[in-house]
Amino acid sequence: MARYSDSVCKLCRREGEKLFLKGERCFTPKCAIERRSYPPGLHGRQAQFRRKESDYGQQLRAKQKARRIYGVMERQFRRYFSIAQRQKGLTGVNLLILLERRLDNVVYRLGFASSRAQARQMVLHGHFDVNGRKTNVPSFLVSPGDVIAVRERSKKTALFKDVAQTLDEGRVPDWLKLDANNLSGQVLQEPTREHIDVTLNEQLIVEYYSR
Ligand code: SF4
Repeated sequence: MARYSDSVCKLCRREGEKLFLKGERCFTPKCAIERRSYPPGLHGRQAQFRRKESDYGQQLRAKQKARRIYGVMERQFRRYFSIAQRQKGLTGVNLLILLERRLDNVVYRLGFASSRAQARQMVLHGHFDVNGRKTNVPSFLVSPGDVIAVRERSKKTALFKDVAQTLDEGRVPDWLKLDANNLSGQVLQEPTREHIDVTLNEQLIVEYYSR
């Protein structure tokens, strides 16, 4: 399966803001946005002073930003968009809700991983059960009532012993519930737009695909 393999900090620099793709490092002075807050590439510095972005440019950036935050490749992102279009309600909001329901995002939101990329890796390595069944598909969409738990044998690993020290029930969004003692979490309801704390203009994404 296709994966982005270049430096993820370039993605933040391209978007001109922190997308928090690297966990703890994003909160330190080592963050590339702190050190080089201009777009990557040979002409990155000059690009800082370019004229205002066109409507298309803004729509493209909004779409790319969403893809990068959630770590989804173009083809799958487009698939989410067409599902969102067929659902009732606002397409842009439906799209964000679909992205938010991904298992790797939920593992990240529950605090088991410091970034979505790390959460994706943990899921791929088979560290989680959903409703008692091993689930190693990062794009699995959770539903209300689902229980996501670290597998028994994974709980004994140094990785999850460390994770257990950092879990904080107060930092979990309202649509999820963390049981820090049992290294598990439950989906209480479907997320709403208000629960999704990413700064994205989803309407621009809709306009991008409606051209
Ligand atoms: Fe983005 Fe984090 Fe890299 Fe900073 S450290 S540029 S926020 S991924």
